[in-house]
Amino acid sequence: MSDVPTARDNDSTTGDDATVPAAPKWGRLPTAPAVTTVLTEILKHGPIPRIEVARRTGLSQTAVTKAVARLAEHGLISAHDHRRSSAPGRPVQPLSVHAEAALAIGITVRVDAIFGVVTTLRADVRHSIHRPLASTVPAAVADSVATVIDLLLADLGPDAERVLGAGVAVSGEVDSDLGIVRNSPRLNWTDVPLRDLVRERRELPVLVDNDVRALSVAEEWFGIGVDANSFAILTIGAGIGCGLYVNGDIVTGDHGVAGEIGHLPLGPSELLCTCGRYGCVETVASTSAIVHAIRTTRQDPLLTMREAVALARGGDAVARGAFERAGSVLGLALATVANLVGPSSILVAGESVANYDLFDLRLREAFEAHVFGSAGACTIVAKSHTFEDWARGSAASAIQALVKGKLAAQS
Ligand SMILES: [Zn+2]
Repeated sequence: MSDVPTARDNDSTTGDDATVPAAPKWGRLPTAPAVTTVLTEILKHGPIPRIEVARRTGLSQTAVTKAVARLAEHGLISAHDHRRSSAPGRPVQPLSVHAEAALAIGITVRVDAIFGVVTTLRADVRHSIHRPLASTVPAAVADSVATVIDLLLADLGPDAERVLGAGVAVSGEVDSDLGIVRNSPRLNWTDVPLRDLVRERRELPVLVDNDVRALSVAEEWFGIGVDANSFAILTIGAGIGCGLYVNGDIVTGDHGVAGEIGHLPLGPSELLCTCGRYGCVETVASTSAIVHAIRTTRQDPLLTMREAVALARGGDAVARGAFERAGSVLGLALATVANLVGPSSILVAGESVANYDLFDLRLREAFEAHVFGSAGACTIVAKSHTFEDWARGSAASAIQALVKGKLAAQS
């Protein structure tokens, strides 16, 4: 992929010769059920009045007050917020999380590069770096992940002690409970114990997750999902992914596979997919499929994606046709998702969103032609997307696991 940068893009406050700090004392968040529930509400909806937390969670105000006091002990709520107002008429401060009190690392592994960020507890990015990846052999990837963790911790200096854990996401089937990548065609991995490989190298709690699922967690807690009952994310790029959030839960499926709309058979039946089947959405709509189609018709085997986009924007009929076919198939896929799940909105993200103008019209035409009844009330929103956003998703996934007590349990 030609547009993947190969050098660090975000100078740290320390130089490249900065030494890695001593291993931080990994902290843990309080995880009593009521505390977890209250912290989740304040993270997602804060600043929020105490009475509103009680209403949303079904907890008594006394229980909320106890939970808030516990969170304040850990520095997660600003001190002035957690005290009850005693003076009559004095306004009560709404509750909000002290986002800098705890930090998380998020890492996404691509075929040719690793991207890493440090975020606050509210998934705001503080630092980001990227490193080229010379090999996708699991041990080499784990070495690079450890290096990225070291660099991010060095950037933080003394604040490294506030990092509570790391999320590492890859494409493919992932068993997050066991930290095993079951199958990642793009990395050519089968049953890789990535969590253990990273933890053998660096002592910190690690959550391994599927990259689209991690992105869905970021939207669930800190994006379009905050007030939604159901939403979907479509990611377009080298692969076509889909995250589903239905009736308050991210859909994971019983077998580690859910939302694989890139492999719905909505494309031409004669096109062979990288998965070995025919007619998948990815045979028409992935970046490599689009470029391949234009290369073949123009008999130009060296054409790049960047050149394909320039041709299409310049009105070249062959190039425009390839993007429009991709848009039509993606629209069919989105109508399928809307008809099955009925989300309030579908977010279109991923690297190819930069070229969304070339997909948009056909995508919406196909969607509207095939969406059923009220499912068509679903709004489709395109969101600019970078590799850093993928890494932020990994951090959000780690934050959610931390808050729910699932990350600490693995350490
Ligand atoms: Zn396929």
